[in-house]
Amino acid sequence: MPDHYDVVIAGAGPAGLSAALNLARARRRVLVLDANRPRNAATLISHGFITRDGVAPHELRRLAREELTQYPEAELQLATVRAVAPAGDGFAIEARGVNGSPSRAVTAASVLVATGLKETLPALPSIRAFYGLGLFSCVQCDGYEHSDKPLALIGETSDLAARALLIAQWSHNLTVFTNGIGRVTDAQESVLAERGVRVERRAIEDVAGERGVVSAVQLTDGTSIPVEGGFVRPRWDAALEYLADLDLATDGWGLLLTDADGRTSAVGVYAAGDSTAPGPQQLIVAAGAGARAAAAVNRDLIGIPRA
Ligand SMILES: Cc1cc2nc3c(=O)[nH]c(=O)nc-3n(C[C@H](O)[C@H](O)[C@H](O)COP(=O)(O)OP(=O)(O)OC[C@H]3O[C@@H](n4cnc5c(N)ncnc54)[C@H](O)[C@@H]3O)c2cc1C
Repeated sequence: MPDHYDVVIAGAGPAGLSAALNLARARRRVLVLDANRPRNAATLISHGFITRDGVAPHELRRLAREELTQYPEAELQLATVRAVAPAGDGFAIEARGVNGSPSRAVTAASVLVATGLKETLPALPSIRAFYGLGLFSCVQCDGYEHSDKPLALIGETSDLAARALLIAQWSHNLTVFTNGIGRVTDAQESVLAERGVRVERRAIEDVAGERGVVSAVQLTDGTSIPVEGGFVRPRWDAALEYLADLDLATDGWGLLLTDADGRTSAVGVYAAGDSTAPGPQQLIVAAGAGARAAAAVNRDLIGIPRA
């Protein structure tokens, strides 16, 4: 059956590509459908992936796609998965083609979700221009280059204090900007103050700087607070509407809950990478989770009982 696969993988980031490579090598017929909007497209350099520290994100993807497509068992197509529904013993998958690629309607015994996260940055006029150049979201990935500099953490969520404590590992010279929206309790502020971290609750006008280099955070009352880059806490959305028919269990942030091997709450549906709880959100973690989920998919398709 040409349009039936052992596994359909939604998303060709490190999680999906790593899962696909391992499944192809397990002689599974695998189709990877990818909307071609990688989360880290905003940045020029990625860190922390062994043998590839400092590589451009598009180069890492290119290498992984090239490796995968050498296997006749694997097919990679640009298409956005629109719906996954139970069908017979498996699933029916519908995808809309992107960049001139055709739409697909296929079936599969298993589905692996690796569609990452969509990000919404605080609504400041210039913030997008600095994102991935002078403002980052992953401190494990980009903290090292900002060691001991005066930094900003800009966010409107309730987890800013924990993120600030983490960033302080790289620089105590840190100001947390809540834009009057993000929540930092008085008790959290005291703990941060002990480490030299300041909390600024006034409303933000914009981020200032040139050519991607951030030099200040400007407040609506005219105050300008100098910084040399920093971090932003975007709002993350796993954008899992296309899985609505599967009624999968998620956590309080809307991320998929899985067991240690990537099995979701629905039999035959697996997940890996940033769309699963709880992180950390890193390339090598996503790739590792993809490989681990691939092993579980293969074992479950064979019917090996779980220990
Ligand atoms: C600015 C920035 C810098 C970063 N720097 C680093 C770094 O230096 N080092 C590091 O380790 N990590 C870094 N990260 C984090 C890293 O990018 C992520 O942790 C990693 O990409 C997650 O991999 P993933 O496979 O889960 O998702 P992604 O890489 O986001 O891949 C998901 C893929 O699924 C596709 N997709 C989405 N919806 C659908 C759909 N419905 N159908 C089909 N396809 C779909 C997307 O287009 C995308 O191609 C950075 C992130 C950002 C935002």
